[in-house]
Amino acid sequence: MNRKCRLGIIILTAVFLVSFSPPGGKDKKTRKFIDPANMDLSVKPGDNFFLYANGAWVKKNPVPASKTRWGSFDQLIEDNSGRLHLLLEEAAHNPADNKFKKVGDYYASGLDSAAIEKLGYEPIKADMERINSLTSIQEVVNEMTYEKTNGMTGSLISINISQDKKNVSKYIPQIGQGGITLPDRDYYLKGDARNSKTRTEFLMHIANMFRLTGVSAADAAKKAEAVMRIETALAKAQLPRVEMRDQYKTYNKFAWKDLSATTPLLDWKNIAEKLAITGTDSVIVSNPSFVKLIDLLLGVVPVEDWKTYLQWHLLNDEAPYLSSAFEKENFNFNRVLSGQKEIQPRWQRISSQIDNSMGELLGELYVNKYFTAEAKKRMLDLVNNLQQTFADRIKRLDWMSDETKQKAFEKLNAFTKKIGYTDKWRDYSSVRVDRNDYIGNHRRAAKWAYDDMVSRLGKPVDKTRWGFTPPTVNASYNATNNEITFPAGILQFPFFDFDADDAVNYGGIGAVIGHEMTHGFDDQGRQSGADGNLTEWWTKPDADKFKSKADEVVNQYNAFTILDTIHVNGRLTLGENLADLGGVNIAYEAFTKTNQFKEGKKIDGFTPAQRFFLSYAQIWRSVILPEEAAKRILTDPHSPGMARANGPVSNIDAWYEAFNVQPGDKMYKPKEQRTRIW
Ligand SMILES: [Zn+2]
Repeated sequence: MNRKCRLGIIILTAVFLVSFSPPGGKDKKTRKFIDPANMDLSVKPGDNFFLYANGAWVKKNPVPASKTRWGSFDQLIEDNSGRLHLLLEEAAHNPADNKFKKVGDYYASGLDSAAIEKLGYEPIKADMERINSLTSIQEVVNEMTYEKTNGMTGSLISINISQDKKNVSKYIPQIGQGGITLPDRDYYLKGDARNSKTRTEFLMHIANMFRLTGVSAADAAKKAEAVMRIETALAKAQLPRVEMRDQYKTYNKFAWKDLSATTPLLDWKNIAEKLAITGTDSVIVSNPSFVKLIDLLLGVVPVEDWKTYLQWHLLNDEAPYLSSAFEKENFNFNRVLSGQKEIQPRWQRISSQIDNSMGELLGELYVNKYFTAEAKKRMLDLVNNLQQTFADRIKRLDWMSDETKQKAFEKLNAFTKKIGYTDKWRDYSSVRVDRNDYIGNHRRAAKWAYDDMVSRLGKPVDKTRWGFTPPTVNASYNATNNEITFPAGILQFPFFDFDADDAVNYGGIGAVIGHEMTHGFDDQGRQSGADGNLTEWWTKPDADKFKSKADEVVNQYNAFTILDTIHVNGRLTLGENLADLGGVNIAYEAFTKTNQFKEGKKIDGFTPAQRFFLSYAQIWRSVILPEEAAKRILTDPHSPGMARANGPVSNIDAWYEAFNVQPGDKMYKPKEQRTRIW
């Protein structure tokens, strides 16, 4: 998710508000948690529920110039960013020599734009020259391993250490598909006007970046063509995202020597050793054809072109740490991809960088100030309520056999719940941070993260690890650990507020909790068992019934269009759409057990049930630039906000009753066409 802000003056205002009001805002007591001023009462709820709930808000909120999207999530990201700004400023000016000094110094090094400007591209000159001196394919491969182990990305081969899906108590190396710059293979392969234009701009961008390093215009243009040739070949060999969702197809375990037998030029055991990956005899490859293609390309593409490819990726990856000419060129191309009009302020870019690279140190400062044990306790109660309700619902399912239900209960009861932040902060004490070396700080932190990753091999799986930093506005389900995670960053209005009525909290964070729980039982999650292992625990008839219900959801979402002709990819977004549908159902049933629901009193003119669904629609309110929307349709497994609001409710009887939705209303589905799964 992007995080940016518009103008200096607005940032100052935001910081001011944040510094003088507690999380959740200063006007809690007077806040309307469901505000009719944000709704469009001229729209019938049954025609377009998203617009009924959010229409006036949408009209009042254009996408800010330094953003590509604006909505409930983005607003919270912005608020959290303001808080991180304060914490970083404070750390940078605090003379105390404690562990938090590192984030302060890191931040100060990034803010010193005068020093960074003076250096130009000097910080990566030695790397560019080293690449330029390569003379053989073997040296090209060695360069990639060198970069990976020294705080650089090391393009082409994408490898990481994570749990073996079929034996989750063990870490194993995993080779993915990568090596391209543009967001998806379609950008290289589709012949339509939008993608053709992007490719033309991409060629110019590569050439411009090389020109900034002193390469002539003619040579820079040739280099751009070389990069495009290699990346187009890689894009062709990549599996489309929908196929990458197939967990069995992408699980291909090889002994190193067997993998090497498929790639005459690549000795994987040797590559692994150079990557400091030792003590393991096998590897999982998501797309073996892609690895074969790399080997084939290494045999036919001239060394000169590989050098250009490596230099390009280095330039592209390091541009944010170089002088303004590089940053600007980088941003200009980003504008082509996303439509974003202005670059975000410098402090915010640095803050994101620190959140990415030393996020658990910055995050510790964040939770000390902005998260309470009380919030954690309230959240845990909600999670437990929803878990119980989910169990009740599984018990009542008419399409699932008792045999599969027993296994489903086992899995549901085995959920690990992570709320707020980690119990065990990562220790960055060995990372040297220099107040005068921004790019060096970035690389040392990246090297630390790499070393930390490879050091996991051979050790027991550490289930205390968090995939999110505390300020992150997100939540997750992780199948290999069968765990749900809710970082501190999302536990705020409009998702959650101590002063809000239950309808608002159940429609907000309740639906998010239900969503993450349902991921354990979506088309992918249902394939792993209570212990996290990929295994078939369903009877065949139950699995078949599930698949046919899931197909209904695919068809429903394929019918949502954006930008006139582009429509949602129902297969790519299936897991998320199933999670949304389950999430709202579970949260609603849990809400019906509350006193507010039972008493049935109206607040601001809305019944408890209406407030629940309005709160749900409110979390998806958003506006988005067309370029960003087009990009997300190809790359994002989540549906656009309007589909996320309207898709689930159109399958839920209680929503029809709450808003008196009738045949003839545009979202109306006859009862037998409403999909009921969880
Ligand atoms: Zn999800």
